[in-house]
Amino acid sequence: MTEKAIRAVHLRVKDAGITDKLIQYMKDGLSPLGVNFLCLEFNPGYNYRCFPELADGSFGKEHARKVALAAKECGIRIVPLFMCFGHQGWRFKKNALLKLHPEFDETPHIPEDGDPENTPDLEFYCHSWCASNDDVYKFVFPRIDEIMEDFGADCVHVGMDEVFSLADENCPRCKGKDRAELFARTVNILHDHIVKVKGWKMMMWADRLNNAEKFGYHEWEGDVWGTWRALDMIPNDILLADWHYEMNEKGFPGIEAFLEKGFTVIPAGWQELKQARFLLDEALKNAKSAKEKGFSGTMAGMMITCWREAENELLDTLLESVKAREQNEDEKGAHGVASSVVYMANKLKDYIP
Ligand SMILES: [Zn+2]
Repeated sequence: MTEKAIRAVHLRVKDAGITDKLIQYMKDGLSPLGVNFLCLEFNPGYNYRCFPELADGSFGKEHARKVALAAKECGIRIVPLFMCFGHQGWRFKKNALLKLHPEFDETPHIPEDGDPENTPDLEFYCHSWCASNDDVYKFVFPRIDEIMEDFGADCVHVGMDEVFSLADENCPRCKGKDRAELFARTVNILHDHIVKVKGWKMMMWADRLNNAEKFGYHEWEGDVWGTWRALDMIPNDILLADWHYEMNEKGFPGIEAFLEKGFTVIPAGWQELKQARFLLDEALKNAKSAKEKGFSGTMAGMMITCWREAENELLDTLLESVKAREQNEDEKGAHGVASSVVYMANKLKDYIP
C-alpha cells in the first residue's frame, strides 16, 4: 500500500456557534501539521431535519456544508461519528430517542433519577438501545444518512464503545441471548446499511472486541464479559479505532490480534503526551511484527481524541497550542490533547501503512 498514514483528530460538536473557529483550527492548526482525518462526534448534538424531536444541538446542514468545503480545501477527510447501541444518554439520563421511545431501551426498569455517584460504573453505566428490536433502525439510518449527506462524507464512525447494557436479564427480547452474538448482530445490521447499501466506509471503537483478560487490559479498554468473541462474527473491512488512555507494561497486543484477522486499525490516544507516545510506539512495533508474520491487516495511523465538547474557547487553546508545536509533558486537558496531536502528526509524517 502506498496510501498515506491516517493522522486523525476527534472532536465533539453540537453548537453551530463554533463553525468558524472549527474551520480556522482545520486551516491554520491541523492541516499545516499534516492531520488529514477529522472525526466529528455528534452525540446526539445534530440539528436533524428528519427527526427534529431527536435533535439536540444547533449544528446542522448549513454548518456541515461549510465545514466540509473548508476540509476539502485543506485535505482533511471529515468522518461524522453517530453513536450507536451504547451511550444512549449519559449514566442514568436517557437521550431523546429512549425518552420518546421507551420500547428501544434495553433497561427501561432503570430510572433516570439513579445516583451515578453511588453506583459503580460496571453495575450500571449508560443506557443502550435494545439489540433485538430492529424498529430502532427506522430512527437510526435516516439520521446517519442525513449527517453523511450533509457533509458529503464517505466514512462514518458508529461509536459502539463501552456497551455494557446488553443481553439484560430484564429485557424480554434479549434475555438469555449471547452478548457476542447480539453485539455482532448490531454491527452487521449497521454494516449492511452503511457499507453494502450506501457504499460508505464504516468505522467503530474497538474496545468491546478486545479480550481484556488475554491482553491484560482493564474492563474499559477491553471486554470482560465475552462480548469480544464478536470479533470473529463481523466483516474485517471495518476500520477499528482502538483506544487506550493509560500505560500498560504489556503493551497493546490486541492491535496485533486485529491485524491477524485482517482489520485496518488505528490506535487512539488522548490527553497525555507520554501515553500517546508509548501507545504509538507500541502500535508501530505491532505493525512491524504483523508484517513479518504476513498478517493481512493494516496499522493505518493514529487518532487523538478530545472528550470535552468543542467550544470556541477550547478551539482557541487547541489552535494556539498546535501552532506553537507544544510538547507539554505535564498538563492534561486542551494542552495535553494538542501536544498529543502534534506528536502523532509528526511521528507519522513519513509512515507508510
Ligand atoms: Zn433487548
